[in-house]
Amino acid sequence: MIDFEIPDDLAALRDEIRAFVVEKIVPYERDPRVTRHGPNEDLRTELVGLARDAGLLTFQAPHRFGGREPSHREQAVLFEAAGWSTLGPVALNCAAPDEGNMYLLSKIATEEQADKFLVPVIDGRQRSVFAMTEPGGAGSDPNQLATAAVFDGTDYVINGRKWLITGANKARTWIIMARVAPNAHGPDGPTLFLCDGQTPGIELERVMDTMDRNYVEGHGVVRFDDLRLPAATVLGEVGQALRYAQLRLAPARLTHCMRWLGAASRAQSIAIDHARTRTGFGKPLGEHQGVSFMLADNEIALQQCRLAIWWACWTLDGGAKGRHESSMVKAYVSEELFKVADRCVQILGGMGISDETPVGAIFSDMRAFRLYDGPTEVHKYAIARQVLRNPS
Ligand SMILES: Cc1cc2nc3c(=O)[nH]c(=O)nc-3n(C[C@H](O)[C@H](O)[C@H](O)COP(=O)(O)OP(=O)(O)OC[C@H]3O[C@@H](n4cnc5c(N)ncnc54)[C@H](O)[C@@H]3O)c2cc1C
Repeated sequence: MIDFEIPDDLAALRDEIRAFVVEKIVPYERDPRVTRHGPNEDLRTELVGLARDAGLLTFQAPHRFGGREPSHREQAVLFEAAGWSTLGPVALNCAAPDEGNMYLLSKIATEEQADKFLVPVIDGRQRSVFAMTEPGGAGSDPNQLATAAVFDGTDYVINGRKWLITGANKARTWIIMARVAPNAHGPDGPTLFLCDGQTPGIELERVMDTMDRNYVEGHGVVRFDDLRLPAATVLGEVGQALRYAQLRLAPARLTHCMRWLGAASRAQSIAIDHARTRTGFGKPLGEHQGVSFMLADNEIALQQCRLAIWWACWTLDGGAKGRHESSMVKAYVSEELFKVADRCVQILGGMGISDETPVGAIFSDMRAFRLYDGPTEVHKYAIARQVLRNPS
């Protein structure tokens, strides 16, 4: 059976993370280096330095890379605490996309690749990107992958265009998905490549203007123009990119859920304070049933989301791939937490859409969560296909 008890050592680390975020990181939320394109590299470096000093940087890394290697269930508790501020995961180096990329690289990179491209990310010295999505090509359906890699027996020559590539500006560790064309030298198909972001042929066209502001350096539009990569840059095996993407996706979906649960809980705490102190029509707002029901719906949703996340983590900790479970949980949690954030905006009145509190930013940042790592409809499509194939 599942045990909901949080052991003392885990509770202590959770409280340490929460105190670090509240005391050291929250004061940066109004820093001008949180730009239209998210926190900039300069701010990230400063925040990472604080976490390093506190002994909390990249706490989720595997033991062999100096981390604490928490189980998925333990991560659920710790990432929620980190997510209290959207800058928390940035400081602690457990934000997307680096956290998912570190996970993937720790599973499939060679020792040489890990030394060069993973260790600097774990140390917080450089950032990473995962470049898959294309305008008109790969998106919800990765089989539409259009970026082509032509192998001449020594090098792969890559051409294509990607967008929505989080953190592309100034990132050094690049994981690129491209389709190896049939060739006389070996296998073909969707493949991951691992290279330095400063390799000639990687062109950042622009950083997109988007409605979210929580990801470091925003989301880039990138062109690969005769990007020439040697065979040693293949990450894992040629033709296996979609399998590796799945390996990354199940846990990465859940860590998104955990961080946003922290942010939604923060929004709820601000809404509760407001409902207790702001009055209207002769009493505190919270004593009006319309408002109290919104607070109660939030509390129910937060706890249901927490339990759903813990359950999916439990399946992963048991050794399952958790593809179906993480899909269900991601679809559910992203929809529910977005409704929580929306109700918090509503309770705050006009102030809710302003930057007077973090609630407005949490709401607009969380809108994107219903799209990335699979839009809700795509998860439902996959879940329905599964149940139609294997009715219980
Ligand atoms: C904030 C953010 C950060 C991102 N970061 C990255 C990144 O770092 N790297 C990267 O490679 N990508 C990234 N993405 C891209 C993200 O993975 C894609 O947006 C996502 O996969 C959806 O693809 P798409 O945008 O092309 O939408 P499409 O595939 O064009 O889908 C559009 C809509 O069609 C509907 N739809 C699609 N298929 C189905 C279906 N089978 N059944 C029912 N409805 C369907 C859904 O409503 C969906 O929202 C990011 C996106 C966002 C918003």
